[in-house]
Amino acid sequence: MRAWLLTLVSLVGLAMLAGVGAQAAPPVDRVTAVRIGGEGQATRVVVESDAPLKHHVFVLAAGSSRVVVDLPRVRWSINGLTAEAGSGKGVGVVSGYRYAHNTESTSRLVLDLAKPAVVAREFMLSPKTSGERHKLVFDLEPATAEAFAAAAADPAPGPATVPQQAARNPLIVIDPGHGGKDPGAISKSGLLEKDVTLAAAFALREELLKSKRYDVALTRSTDLFIELEDRVTKARSLGADLFIALHADAGPKPSTSGASVYTLSQEGEKRIDGARRANDWILDVEVDSGRPAEVNRILADLVQRETKNQSARFAQMLAESIAQTGWPTLENAHRQKGFYVLLSPDVPAALLEMGFMTNDNDAAAMVSETKRRKLVNGVVGAIDQFFENQTRLVAAR
Ligand SMILES: [Zn+2]
Repeated sequence: MRAWLLTLVSLVGLAMLAGVGAQAAPPVDRVTAVRIGGEGQATRVVVESDAPLKHHVFVLAAGSSRVVVDLPRVRWSINGLTAEAGSGKGVGVVSGYRYAHNTESTSRLVLDLAKPAVVAREFMLSPKTSGERHKLVFDLEPATAEAFAAAAADPAPGPATVPQQAARNPLIVIDPGHGGKDPGAISKSGLLEKDVTLAAAFALREELLKSKRYDVALTRSTDLFIELEDRVTKARSLGADLFIALHADAGPKPSTSGASVYTLSQEGEKRIDGARRANDWILDVEVDSGRPAEVNRILADLVQRETKNQSARFAQMLAESIAQTGWPTLENAHRQKGFYVLLSPDVPAALLEMGFMTNDNDAAAMVSETKRRKLVNGVVGAIDQFFENQTRLVAAR
C-alpha cells in the first residue's frame, strides 16, 4: 500500500512539472459523409461537412489512376463513426474511396478510378435547412487515355473558400481496457475483462450515437492488444473532447461490489491524504488486485498535459449519475473524496471501473444487456451533464 501511495504522490509532482506549456489539439471541421452515385454519364461524389471546406482536387496517373481531394485537417466522422482513416465502395468510374490524415495539418480523400476519368464539374452547396450539411460536389466523367493524361499533367488548384469554424458535436473517445494477449481480470465463471469492457464500449457507443449529440470513437473495436500510450495518443490525435477508459475490477473478497471512478487533477495530494485516513480498506483492495500498477501507467500517460479540473468535475458527475440509476457503486470512497487520483490531461479523462469481476452479481450484470443498460444510461447522463455546461467552450474551439 505504502509503495502505491508514494508512486501516486510522485506522479502528482510530475504532473505539476509537466503541466506547463502543453498544447491543445487545433480545432477541426467534420466530414460527416462521402456519397458516390450515378448521375447520367457522370459519377457524382458528394463530401458533406459542418463548414465549407477549403479543398484542392487533382488527378494522379502515376501508379493507379485516382482523383485526389486535399482538405485542411478534418475530423473523419463518416456516418457518426469517427476514425483516423477508412474506406468505402464506389460506383461508376469510381471503384472505391479511401480517406486519412495526410500531414499534421491536412487530410486527404482518394477516389480510385475503375477507368480513366476527369473532373467535369465541381461546386459547393450551402445548407438550405438547419439539418443539412455543406456539400462539396464533383462530377467525374469517363475520358480517353489522352484526356486523362493531360488532366493529370495539369495540377491546377481548384476553387478555394475560406474555412469557417462551425459548432460541432463533442467527440467522445471510449477506451475498452485490455485486449489481445492481455485479458485483464477474470471472473469465477471464466469471463474476461477484455471482453466485458469491449461489449460495454459498444453498448455505450450505440447509446451516444442514438442521441445524435456526439461523435464517438473507440481505441479498439476488436480483441486487440494496444499499448496504453497508443490509446492516449489516438484520443489526442482524433481531437477528443472526453476520454473514458472502461475497466472491470478484481478484489480479494468476492463480496466487494460496485463501480468506481478514477481521474486526474491538481487537488490530487489532498485527496490521496484523505483516502489514507478514511479508506484504508479500499487501498488494501487496490494493492491486492494489482490494479495500482495498471492505473498508474494510465495516469502517467495522461500527466503531461495542461492542468484542468474538468476531469474531476466529470468524474464526480459520472459517479453520481451511475449511482442514481441504481447500479452498485463504491459510494463510501466518493463521499470521503479519497478515491480520486487527480492529475490533469489536456483531454478531460476518467477511468471507470464498472464493477468487480470477482463479484458474481457484478460480473453477470456487466455482460447482461438489460442490466447493463443502467450503467450505460448513467454514463450517458453524466456526459450530457458535462457538455451541457460546456457547449460554448466546445463550439469555440
Ligand atoms: Zn482493467
